Amino acid sequence: MAPAEAWRELVAARAGGACEYCRLLEAATGVTFHVEHVVPQSKGGQTVLSNLALSCPGCNLAKGGRTAGEDRNGHRRPLFNPRHYEPWLLGWHLHFELNHETGLIRPRTPIGEATEKSLDMNSVNRVFARRLQIQAGLIG
Ligand SMILES: [Zn+2]
Repeated sequence: MAPAEAWRELVAARAGGACEYCRLLEAATGVTFHVEHVVPQSKGGQTVLSNLALSCPGCNLAKGGRTAGEDRNGHRRPLFNPRHYEPWLLGWHLHFELNHETGLIRPRTPIGEATEKSLDMNSVNRVFARRLQIQAGLIG
């Protein structure tokens, strides 16, 4: 078992079973979410609870080894770090807004813009799944 996977239950429970970036719920997607390093191991990130997050494969694979991206004005910004907030959903709401009709995530801040763009949080597949989960009452 990879070291990060040893923390899976705790990381998933802390996240409420949701991707800490795009808010999809693992239990309703049929795929196994990743335990990701917020600061990648390639950039010195440690395998400790304060550096781990639950992420859907779409967000995690898009993020890769990045910790920054471009906002809508082309300025380099750090990506959203769910570990900077307790609970993470508080920070999420500071940087993003969820449209319950469309399922789209709208960034509220330059950090939100860089993250939404870099992680492709509004990809067709994720918006479709998010809308279904909203309609089912799984995402509030
Ligand atoms: Zn996600």
